[in-house]
Amino acid sequence: MRRFQFEYGNEKVFVRELEKLRAWVRRQMAQGILFHIFCETVDKKRIKTVCDYLEKYFPGAEYIGCTTSGNIVSGDKGQSDICVSCTMFEYPDTQFKVFQLPLEENSLEVGQRLKRYIEENPWVKSVELLTTINGISMTKFCESFTGCRKDVCIFGGGAYSPDLSGNNGFVFSKGHEMSENGVVLLMAGGDDFHMVTMHITGWKPLGREFTVTKARDSRLYELDGQPAYEVYYKYLHINNDENFFENSLEFPIFYKHHGIDILRAPTSSNEDGSLNMTSTVEENVSAKLAYGDPEVIIDSVKGESQAVADFQPDVIDVFSCAARLMYWGAEDVGRETMPFEAIAPTVGFFTSGEFLRTGEYVNQHNVTLVVAAMREGDIDEDREVYHMLSEEEKSGKINMIKRLTTFINVATAEMEEANRKLEIAAISDAMTKLYNRGEIQRRISAAVRENMANDEKISLVMMDLDDFKKVNDTYGHKEGDNVLIGLANVLRDTLKKCEVEGDIGRWGGEEFMILLPHIAVDKASEIAKNLLKNFSDKDFPLAGHQTMSLGVTEYVNGEKSDSLTMRVDAALYDAKAGGKNRVVVR
Ligand code: GH3
Ligand code: MG
Ligand code: MG
Repeated sequence: MRRFQFEYGNEKVFVRELEKLRAWVRRQMAQGILFHIFCETVDKKRIKTVCDYLEKYFPGAEYIGCTTSGNIVSGDKGQSDICVSCTMFEYPDTQFKVFQLPLEENSLEVGQRLKRYIEENPWVKSVELLTTINGISMTKFCESFTGCRKDVCIFGGGAYSPDLSGNNGFVFSKGHEMSENGVVLLMAGGDDFHMVTMHITGWKPLGREFTVTKARDSRLYELDGQPAYEVYYKYLHINNDENFFENSLEFPIFYKHHGIDILRAPTSSNEDGSLNMTSTVEENVSAKLAYGDPEVIIDSVKGESQAVADFQPDVIDVFSCAARLMYWGAEDVGRETMPFEAIAPTVGFFTSGEFLRTGEYVNQHNVTLVVAAMREGDIDEDREVYHMLSEEEKSGKINMIKRLTTFINVATAEMEEANRKLEIAAISDAMTKLYNRGEIQRRISAAVRENMANDEKISLVMMDLDDFKKVNDTYGHKEGDNVLIGLANVLRDTLKKCEVEGDIGRWGGEEFMILLPHIAVDKASEIAKNLLKNFSDKDFPLAGHQTMSLGVTEYVNGEKSDSLTMRVDAALYDAKAGGKNRVVVR
């Protein structure tokens, strides 16, 4: 596999390049030729001129392309508005095929068509996609690839235009219209074709976790129940002014989707405190602020992309976010992409969304580098592997930002752990590890409230040890405690064995309460009998066998939780009065 890269400055120079390339190709045994045309312009006439030249000089070749917010050629930001790269497949077994399909929002068509093609063509190993986005939600588009043959890599980028606010990006390919609502798919594969893909951000998660409590499409309303903008203001002092995008770009959010970290950056904030994000954010996922520091980003990109170098690719495609171009600026953005050119010829563009399949799912990333590295033939064992990080960089001193964020992350983790322990302590009984009185009461009240809404059964079982005072008096308080802990274990184990979900609480000294939601009194009484037996079967080291009495009752529609607990208490009283060691149902 070989790649030639050139920029389209003026026609004369371009034609000369094409002639040279054609002469070279004639001496070679190229299996197939594919051009990528990335255009930092929406000037269709100008783009067509380039396409026409390619058709004239390479009538057998395919080409695909799209508009961009910047091109990557030879690993750096391209100088001209149109960059052309020529990829030549050399192995006889390598094949490729180009499709262009219309794209409709919420349609699963593209993925389904692709899946069918892949099933019928086992040679396919990779799918590069160039797609328009132009403000539509790509959630369904991404979902439509789910179920695609597992070993197929899917990656690509969203067309953009130099005017970032304009929704006028388009894609094109040989024999098709330039389309503002379309996808170009390039399938490649064959026995000798190999590839690896990865996504790298370099942005690092920071401090505490938030829950996305309200979001619709790409609008993020609330984090932890507060307006999302408040988080940016409270934690970062980012003001809602004309620099909002620039400032917040250093602190986008990471959220977990299908188990992987995905970045979303806020582009602007609204009156109601909601934020417009670079693309869809889901509700009820956990999110963290992330920070981007130039040195940390470079180190991460180099460190994480070592796998690309180890793979010894012939060519590399890079799909980088338009936001990264903005973050670095045109002069410096090459700092993170040039290292790839040291491995293999690297082309790509700055996108309106980066796509990558990780495991089963295709995700739409933002602020991310999606890297696809390809090779024909086996790894050359004798070739020395290129080291992305020099020895000096590897052992280099850690920068201060890194240390400070480590400090924040460790301190936050400690605090979260301490909070978690406190939260548990606040609702548990220290000795038995069951819920304490307050918590079980709250749960009973909540179940009663829920019952009013959905008319479900609720049962309560209350129990009290028989003649427990004697245990303390005869064998000591310590053995008394053992009996209480033993009973708690019997309660837990029996519910588990009966396969019922219930909340167990310590109601008082040697009194316990079990709340059984969705369970009627007959079943509850059966469970109570099991509890009675299992406890009396237990043999304590000193106290031997002990017994208890149980009361059982069911919730009566419309009553308050107090009346429910009073009735179960009365049932328990009856069990005691009736001679103990028994179950009474009321
Ligand atoms: P009954 O069968 O009528 O319930 O008789 P009882 O002896 O079990 O009832 P009583 O209410 O007279 O005594 C309860 C005893 O439970 C008294 C108290 O010392 C003991 N107790 C309460 N909490 C604990 C505890 O945490 N540990 C120990 N070891 N004993 C406790
Ligand atoms: Mg008792
Ligand atoms: Mg008692």
